[in-house]
Amino acid sequence: MKARTRVAIIGAGIVGLMTALHLARRGVTDVVVLDRAPALLLGASGRNGGGIRAQWTTAENIELAKRSIEQFERLARDTGHNTWFRQGGYLFLARTEEQLSNLRKAAAFQNAHGVRTRLVDADGARRIVPPLSTEGILGGAFNPDDGTLFPWPVVHGVAEEVRRRGVEIVLNADVVGFDTAGGKVRAVVTSRGRVEADHVLLAAGARSPSVAALLGIDLPTRPQRHEILVTEALKPFFDPMLVDLSNGLYASQAMRGEVIGGVSHPHVDGHSQESSLAFASTFARALTRLLPQLTGVRALRQWAGSYDLTPDARPILGLAGAFDNFYVACGFTGHGFMIAPMTGQLLAELMTGGKPSLPIDGFRLSRFAEGDLAKESMVIG
Ligand SMILES: Cc1cc2nc3c(=O)[nH]c(=O)nc-3n(C[C@H](O)[C@H](O)[C@H](O)COP(=O)(O)OP(=O)(O)OC[C@H]3O[C@@H](n4cnc5c(N)ncnc54)[C@H](O)[C@@H]3O)c2cc1C
Repeated sequence: MKARTRVAIIGAGIVGLMTALHLARRGVTDVVVLDRAPALLLGASGRNGGGIRAQWTTAENIELAKRSIEQFERLARDTGHNTWFRQGGYLFLARTEEQLSNLRKAAAFQNAHGVRTRLVDADGARRIVPPLSTEGILGGAFNPDDGTLFPWPVVHGVAEEVRRRGVEIVLNADVVGFDTAGGKVRAVVTSRGRVEADHVLLAAGARSPSVAALLGIDLPTRPQRHEILVTEALKPFFDPMLVDLSNGLYASQAMRGEVIGGVSHPHVDGHSQESSLAFASTFARALTRLLPQLTGVRALRQWAGSYDLTPDARPILGLAGAFDNFYVACGFTGHGFMIAPMTGQLLAELMTGGKPSLPIDGFRLSRFAEGDLAKESMVIG
């Protein structure tokens, strides 16, 4: 590991790596990405459902997602890695009048932001997914530009691309302290040594609060275990990500044919990555209710990862603490992968002295103390 760098990034998840990519594209390749894990993909970025959507209820999330989708459309070409990005849409399904009315309001808001969400009735939903059981379904919302991807080649592709451009990724480097002076963070201290930096970005996912605490910064985020499951491969029979608003089920079919998804159930707070039978059975019931033909299908693998929750389900981005060169990017709840490309671009713009191409003031850390919260309500899982 080099002793000095222009930018040190803590966390080699999708957020840290996308920031490194956008820095490199701006000519800043004197960058070190530090990660405590022995390999890539051990954080949430290697454990998620690969869902990518612009159907949100806050303007910032819609804009971040929309522009990130444009970047995902180009990413395979940019990195030379097949990301399995497929725009089969997201189909949200409502079983109550209240859910339907919320979808109606959200769709109008999304349309005003240029997102092509349209409302469908139960028959319309079945036209999009013919094997869908629409019993109890009142209607839904569908945006054809949403989709899914395979997170692993995205992370590997971006990591290889930034390395090729000169960025150093250092694994087994647990950040354990900082040196500060004159209102700046001067160096990051890791289990593998110390690196001096002009700018430091904390992008350590659900573990960000303990790192920020080393600088006396209090992040109001908390980790929560979310489980997920993949079935054996079946002949492809549905395209969109399905979301059942009555139980938080989300499920999509990967291009190889596996069905992958999660569901709301009593999630455990903390960093546990254990799997539970209770999750598997809740998921199986919710999935077969929507797609009865999956009754009897075998689960191939089950795992868990951490959601990185904020009180308003929106991320924290920008400068933090009493330092003018220390930035945070965390609190991505259950949707950090889909907005990572644009998040990385905004952070790179900030750190290179440019004006961020989208307003990021709404993501400032101080909003929690100020009580200025606009809650994002389309969180699922
Ligand atoms: C089950 C599940 C399903 C999800 N589904 C979706 C989805 O469909 N779509 C979507 O967009 N998002 C989804 N998410 C959320 C998404 O995965 C995360 O928001 C995103 O991956 C966060 O990326 P990150 O880079 O912030 O964090 P991470 O990927 O967790 O990376 C943080 C990195 O920081 C490192 N680190 C931590 N502490 C230290 C330290 N002290 N020193 C050095 N390094 C450190 C960690 O080792 C880790 O590699 C899901 C999450 C889960 C758990």
